[in-house]
Amino acid sequence: MSYKKDTICVQGGYRPKSGESRIPPISQSTTYFYDSTQGMADLFDLKADGYFYSRLANPTVAAFEGKVTELEGGAAAVGCSSGMAASTLAAFTVCCAGDNIVSSSAIYGGTFNLFAVTLPKLGIETRFFDPDAPAEEIEKLIDDKTRLIFTETIANPAIKILDFEKIAGIAKKYGVLFAVDNTLATPILCRPFEWGANVIIHSSTKYLDGHAAALGGMIVDGGNFNFKNNPRYASFNEPDESYHGLVYADLPSAQFATKCRAQMMRDIGAMMSPQNAFLSWLGCDTLALRMERHSANAKKVAAYLDSHPKIDWVWHASLPANKYHKLAEKYLPDGQGGMLSFGIKGDVKKAAVFMESLKLITQETHVADVRSCVLHPASTTHRQLSKAELEEAGVPENLVRLSVGIENADDIIADIEQALAGI
Ligand SMILES: *Cc1c(COP(=O)(O)O)cnc(C)c1O
Repeated sequence: MSYKKDTICVQGGYRPKSGESRIPPISQSTTYFYDSTQGMADLFDLKADGYFYSRLANPTVAAFEGKVTELEGGAAAVGCSSGMAASTLAAFTVCCAGDNIVSSSAIYGGTFNLFAVTLPKLGIETRFFDPDAPAEEIEKLIDDKTRLIFTETIANPAIKILDFEKIAGIAKKYGVLFAVDNTLATPILCRPFEWGANVIIHSSTKYLDGHAAALGGMIVDGGNFNFKNNPRYASFNEPDESYHGLVYADLPSAQFATKCRAQMMRDIGAMMSPQNAFLSWLGCDTLALRMERHSANAKKVAAYLDSHPKIDWVWHASLPANKYHKLAEKYLPDGQGGMLSFGIKGDVKKAAVFMESLKLITQETHVADVRSCVLHPASTTHRQLSKAELEEAGVPENLVRLSVGIENADDIIADIEQALAGI
């Protein structure tokens, strides 16, 4: 029986047996008891499903992994300690020194640093492309050492919408694994596996948890990539000596997730905590409702800002004149999410006065939870950059990033109105 996404939000990932607790208990335990040596040996051999140590798997984390897997329509998922841990482990699952990643340049700042600064120190190179570039240009970056194409569904803070078919076409043509960070769209607004993605990354810290309560990350395996005899993925086709000769490409399903857990999680240990998995599982109950409200509110706020004389420009794909409106109609037809950016006419100082005048909307580095919040990158996260560097990064100095919450839209707009009146 396959259910609709809003049903999966409340019923997915955990199905208790008679007499068990209705929602997943927090399995606050590092280890698990077995009464036979064989029972444990079968787990180590991956012949049986079960738990032996919480660095590798935990029942509460499994409930959340199950819910996200069902929501995305994937084969399996691996819960991680943060979104950054998820991107790092996903990269390590396919890349080693000498390999390269071909990545969109319009990605989360932390991921950009990981790819541009940290992974190169380990011998993994990243080649960045403009996601709006034609396929022929992006293709030129791929060679026989390319192991991963990396993108974001809704890129932050430029709010660019990904042209999935263009990227999926390139990935298929060259037999390269296609990964998408779906954090800001969530499976409620877009399901990347339906558009050709093979791996989905989430920072569950954002909308999945939704309440700014728990850090977390998720790697979802689409189970739809053919690793068998693909020369790019020797590490899936050769026996893993650290796992007594297991050949991941020969597994019947979830080859990527299994290698990620058995090798990378085992060795690196950036596992999601049971407490955070519980909070995130619970938060996900209302994900479908929240995304509907976030999108509707952001659409109203975008339209309001767009007609305001003190506003220079507004980026949100719901606006008919937005560069990504057509792509959003195709890939995000049920709503374009709660993230928007806008420019205040005038200099950096005007933006700062605006930010400080807000009463309901708070200044935070966080995004994508139930409460509306704003950030002025030029005076905070991008403070070190010059005016020219800001322009180059696609973050003009007057840019304000607004994460629209689920409060009443009239109250959000009234707060913006009174703050704009003061500048
Ligand atoms: C926040 C974020 C991340 C990183 O997630 P953390 O949980 O903070 O490590 C990755 N991608 C996107 C799109 C994000 O917004």
